[in-house]
Amino acid sequence: MVGAMTATHTKRGLLERLSEGPVICAEGYLFELERRGYLQAGTFVPEVVLEHPEALAQVHRELMRAGSDVIEAFTYYGHREKLRLIGKEDALEPLNLGALELAHSVAAEADGEPPLVAGNICNTNVWHPNDEAAARTVRAMFEEQVGWAVEGGADYVIAETFYHCEEARVALDVIKQSGLPSVVTLALPASGTFVDGYSAGDAAAVLAEDGADVVGLNCFRGPVTTMEAVREMRARVSTHVAALPVPYRTTEEFPTFFTFVEREEAPARIPNGRPFPVALDPFLCDRYEMAGFARAAVDADVRYVGVCCGGGPHHVRAMAEALGRTPPASAYSPDMSKHFAFGTDPSLDEHTRGLASTL
Ligand SMILES: [Zn+2]
Repeated sequence: MVGAMTATHTKRGLLERLSEGPVICAEGYLFELERRGYLQAGTFVPEVVLEHPEALAQVHRELMRAGSDVIEAFTYYGHREKLRLIGKEDALEPLNLGALELAHSVAAEADGEPPLVAGNICNTNVWHPNDEAAARTVRAMFEEQVGWAVEGGADYVIAETFYHCEEARVALDVIKQSGLPSVVTLALPASGTFVDGYSAGDAAAVLAEDGADVVGLNCFRGPVTTMEAVREMRARVSTHVAALPVPYRTTEEFPTFFTFVEREEAPARIPNGRPFPVALDPFLCDRYEMAGFARAAVDADVRYVGVCCGGGPHHVRAMAEALGRTPPASAYSPDMSKHFAFGTDPSLDEHTRGLASTL
């Protein structure tokens, strides 16, 4: 209608984008919406899709403005087992389709090339190794969710946070049958191997062999302990590799965010003395650490990079800027030159600037 005045932007697919350079994917919706008071820690079911869609839309919007190339429909844990657990299986289909619709509506707000909209399936928590009945249950759960992702117009599907490699293989098989591109990211436990015995490198190799478009790790581990394992994956496959750590300072001694312990004298201050999941604040990475991670990952030819539970828009923006981007939120990136005490602007009050070392 007003074609001459409306800028139209082509939207490249995931694989095209990856062939040209890094793709940034912001995850971490569970923790962000829990912090904001719209989602309960523990069960971690994304009922926010139906109960407070405006709150979820705002998180999508903030992550997109911060530089995420992807809006991941919030269907993480929106599967049959989780909804059974809270007695709301009726909400399964509206939640899944609603999440896709909401993701598209925010994507349509983008200036410039629209972000990709990803469907999402994840760890079911009812997978048992070598149990065919469990495998059938899990496959059916994936089939219905991937079906809704297709119906909802997803550009590709993310299968994430699997701690069993064999469960991820079933997820991948279901995605492949849909014809959509696949990103399969596993979550590596503290032991350093997946629960069914695969090493990170072996899991990457088998998933790549199965035909995953992107394989890698997300969640559980912070940047330092994710990077070690992702390098093993990178060395074993020729497909694209993904790394989406949690932004927490995990170490060799504390490899995952589950393993952190309260450092104070009175561990009873927090439930069970265990910082996971809602008292992880003292372990949080700053934005510069996440920026450094993004650079290191891309230097290691890990092109699909992002952040998982605990990440916020400030992390995503710093990662985008580290990769040479200037997302809309960069309009408000830090500039201390006019700070009252630490600034350099000559018009600042001389006496007040002199107080800087005493503050
Ligand atoms: Zn996570």
